[in-house]
Amino acid sequence: MRLSQILISTLRDDPADAEIPSHRLLARAGFIVKTAAGVYTYAPLMWRVVKKFAQIVREELDREGANEVMLPIIQPKELWVSSGRWDRYVTDGIMFSLKDRKGSDMCLGPTHEEVMTAYVDAQVNSYKQLPVNCYQIQDKFRDEIRPRFGLMRGREFIMMDAYSFDADQAGLDEAYQKMRRAYCRIFERCGVEYTVVQADSGAIGGAGSEEFMVIADSGEDAILFCRESGYAANVEKAQSQLPAAPGGGEAKALEKHSTPDVKTVAQLEAFFPGQVAGRMAKTVLYHVTWKNKEKVVAVMMRGDLEINEVKLTNALDALTVRLATEDEIKAATGAEVGFAGPVGLPDEVPLLADESLQGVTNLLTGCNETGFHCLNVNLGRDCRMPSFKELRTARAGEGCPISGKPLEQARGIEVGHIFKLGTKYSKAMGATFMDQGGKPTPFVMGCYGIGVSRTPAAAIEQHFDDKGMVWPVAIAPFECVVAMLDPKRDEQQQLATQLYDQLRADGVDVCLDDRAMSPGAKFKDLELIGVPVQVFVGRKAGEGQVEFLVRKGMQKSECAATDVRANVLAALGR
Ligand code: ATP
Ligand code: MG
Repeated sequence: MRLSQILISTLRDDPADAEIPSHRLLARAGFIVKTAAGVYTYAPLMWRVVKKFAQIVREELDREGANEVMLPIIQPKELWVSSGRWDRYVTDGIMFSLKDRKGSDMCLGPTHEEVMTAYVDAQVNSYKQLPVNCYQIQDKFRDEIRPRFGLMRGREFIMMDAYSFDADQAGLDEAYQKMRRAYCRIFERCGVEYTVVQADSGAIGGAGSEEFMVIADSGEDAILFCRESGYAANVEKAQSQLPAAPGGGEAKALEKHSTPDVKTVAQLEAFFPGQVAGRMAKTVLYHVTWKNKEKVVAVMMRGDLEINEVKLTNALDALTVRLATEDEIKAATGAEVGFAGPVGLPDEVPLLADESLQGVTNLLTGCNETGFHCLNVNLGRDCRMPSFKELRTARAGEGCPISGKPLEQARGIEVGHIFKLGTKYSKAMGATFMDQGGKPTPFVMGCYGIGVSRTPAAAIEQHFDDKGMVWPVAIAPFECVVAMLDPKRDEQQQLATQLYDQLRADGVDVCLDDRAMSPGAKFKDLELIGVPVQVFVGRKAGEGQVEFLVRKGMQKSECAATDVRANVLAALGR
C-alpha cells in the first residue's frame, strides 16, 4: 500500500480536550476524528488497527468453538421489558431510546443479552443442541455521563460481546474457562501487559466475574493486588484484613456533648482529643432505590474508613444508591447535615453498619440533634443494633485477604470482562430448553465483553514516547514502512519499491511511503504514527545503503539494502 493513496492527516498540535496520551496521540496522528462528544470517525490507519485487533479476537474465540453472528443494533422495547431492564436503562439515561414512525419505542443496543437470549431461545429446543456460544463485533451505544479520553469512554464504541448457553452450572464453568483462556491469548498476542482481577458481579453474586485490566496510570479503575498470593481485585470488590479498632474497654455511661459546628471526622478529632477516628462512627445517609420502592438508609462506618457504594448496593440488594440530599437528611433525621447518628434515629430509617464496628464499645457518634454528639455510644444499648455488613473500601497497605501481606494499588483500564450470569436472563425471559427428562429448563448463561476500540487505545497508554505512538507489532497499522526521502529521485524510487515488493513477498504487512514531503517532516510523521520497523531510502540509495529504525527505543542504524529483508524479519520477531 502506498501512503500517498491513504488519507493521512497528522496535526501539528494536540487537541484541546485530550487529557491522556492515547487520546492526544491518536487525535494528533489523525487516527481518530471527533464527530460528537464520545463519537469518533476511525481514519484509515486506525481502522487497520481495529481490524487487526478484531481479527485476533475472532481467531482466538473461533478456536474455542464460539460462533460469530451479527445482531441488530436497533432493538424493540418489548425485548427489554421482557428482561425487566427497560425502565432502569431508560431512567439511568445510559440507553439511547427512540420512537419509530408508528410511535413504537426502540433503542440502540447498549448491550445484547436480550437479543441474543431471544435468538438462541428460538433456535435451541433440546439439551442436545447445547452448549452454544455466539459472539459479535459491533458498535454499541451508551449515553455515558462523561464521555472522555477519546476511544476509552465513547458513546458509540466497538465491542466484542459473547454469550454462552449451557444446560447446567458445570457447563457454564467450562464455557467461562474457555473464554478466560481465549482472553489471555488475545491480550498476550496484542502485546499489552494485563492483569485479571476479581470484579463485582452485582446483585447476581457468586464468584463469577473477572475483569481484564491493562495497567496504566490513566486507568479509570483502581486495583488492589498482592504479589505474594496473586490476589488481585477491582477496588469495587476488593477485601482486606484490617487490624481491629483500638479497644474501647468496658461500656461507660452515655454522654451527650454540645458540639456546635463540629461536623466532620477531622473536626471531631480536634474537639474530642483522645478519641481516635477508629472509635468514631460516622453515619452517612443514602437514598436507596429498589425495583418497587425508595428509602433513606443510614450507614455507619468507622471514622477512618470509607464506604464502598458497590458493596452497599449489593448488601441492600438495591438497584442504585446515592448520597441523600440535605433535604432528605433533614427529613429523615430531623437534624442538619453532620449530626446524623444511630442514637435517636427514627425507627423507619434502616440502620446498617460496617463489620469493623462490630463489638467496638464507647463510640463517638452523632445523635440526630443539630449541634450535639454522643460519647460512649454502645450499639444495642443506646440505639438499635445495626445490621452488620462488609461495606468498607479496602485500601493499599491493608492486609491481603489471603496472605495478610500489605496490598498494593495500581490503576487499570478495563479492556475485557467475563461474567457468569446464571439464569438471570433466561428465567426472566422464559428462555428454556428441554432437558434429558423432557422438562423445560432455563439456559445457564455467561456473557463476555471486550473493548475492541478501547483496547488499541489502552495499548498506546503502555506504548508511547515523547515522539509519538509505538505500536505493538500485532496491531500496528503496518508492521513496516519503506520510506523514500525524495520520491523525485529515480534511484530512491527504484530501491524503495524493490525493498517494498520483496518484503511484501515475504508476507510482511508493509507500506511504501512515497509522499512528497521534506525528509525532516517525514521522519517526524512516521515517528508519531509509530510503525514498528521503518526503512529510509535516501541519499545513499545509489550505494545500496539505507537507514533502519526500530521505533521502540528509536534504535537507528545504517544497513545495506541487501540486509534489509533479514533485519526487518528479525525486528518483527519472525
Ligand atoms: P466501564 O466500567 O468501563 O464503564 P462496563 O463494565 O460498563 O465498562 P461492559 O458492559 O463490561 O463495560 O463492556 C465490555 C467492555 O466494553 C468493557 O470491558 C470495555 O472494555 C468496553 N467498554 C465499555 N464501555 C465502553 C465505552 N463507553 N467506550 C469504550 N469501550 C467501552
Ligand atoms: Mg465491565
